[in-house]
Amino acid sequence: AKSLGRSRSVVFETMMESNQLEFYRLEHDLDTAVEKNQLVLAFQPKVDLLSGHVVGLEALVRWNHPSRGYCYPKVFISVAERSDQIIRIDRWVMRAAIEAQAKWLAAGRTLLPIAINLSMADILSTDMVGYLDRLLAESGVPAGALEVEVTESSMMGEPEKTKTVMQALNLRGIATTLDDFGTGFSSLSYLRQLPLQSLKIDQSFIQSMLKDGNAEKLTQTIIAMGLALEMRVVAEGVETMEQMRWLVEHGCLIGQGYFFSPPVSADNIHGVVERIEQN
Ligand code: C2E
Ligand code: CA
Ligand code: CA
Ligand code: CA
Repeated sequence: AKSLGRSRSVVFETMMESNQLEFYRLEHDLDTAVEKNQLVLAFQPKVDLLSGHVVGLEALVRWNHPSRGYCYPKVFISVAERSDQIIRIDRWVMRAAIEAQAKWLAAGRTLLPIAINLSMADILSTDMVGYLDRLLAESGVPAGALEVEVTESSMMGEPEKTKTVMQALNLRGIATTLDDFGTGFSSLSYLRQLPLQSLKIDQSFIQSMLKDGNAEKLTQTIIAMGLALEMRVVAEGVETMEQMRWLVEHGCLIGQGYFFSPPVSADNIHGVVERIEQN
């Protein structure tokens, strides 16, 4: 038993070391990801469940890593959040989202608002809103073409600062969404204090609500709360027709998920929007 314990701890330490090593490698590679033009945005539509119209897009960042290939945020966002790299990445995302809108505007398209995801470090960083102002002014893209999603966990500790930033965004016409609702700890007090136009129900609820009675009741309660506060309620992770029908019946009228489309490239998103709206 003793030697087993020791070998286990050796395995454990080796794992820790390789995780550390992995972390430093990723952190090192991320340092130059922006300059080397390795980041790319994918877009996923948000759909009005009654009319079938696409009402907005969410921008989700991807990393074309030179040796690892196409990387999802799960691999690198937490690494970036542990350093200040997330600020550089998210400022790149802001620029790329606004550049995409400028291009679509020039092509004569009706703009669909693009929602970007912000981490706590972005909210706390100096002059984040000023940076957005400059990008918008330079590009001629209206502020309403942009939206912001913030998770409960990213507001933890700094609700006052978060509130100030959200007010500044709203003042410009940039709508704010509370993301991953139901997975944090202080949801209710944030709902009361923050200037929010939308509430996004975390996909874990959507994926369990038709299998688990408690999840179903909780999802119903979240929808009722959002509606009572006159917020738009959005469901993420909608994968089936049954989920979509349930959501409509219970008053959640905007959905996002693989049932409509996975996130796709800028070149493909308008084809996807057309296909959804033709159905
Ligand atoms: P999120 O904001 O909750 O984004 C939704 C995630 O669910 C996305 O994963 C999306 O691809 C995935 N998804 C969409 N529809 C479905 C579905 O029907 N079923 C399932 N199983 N999944 C679905 P993704 O793109 O891997 O992003 C993961 C997380 O990374 C995001 O969660 C967000 O928290 C973070 N993230 C993504 N882009 C950025 C960014 O630019 N900045 C920051 N700070 N965080 C980002
Ligand atoms: Ca989001
Ligand atoms: Ca979410
Ligand atoms: Ca999520």
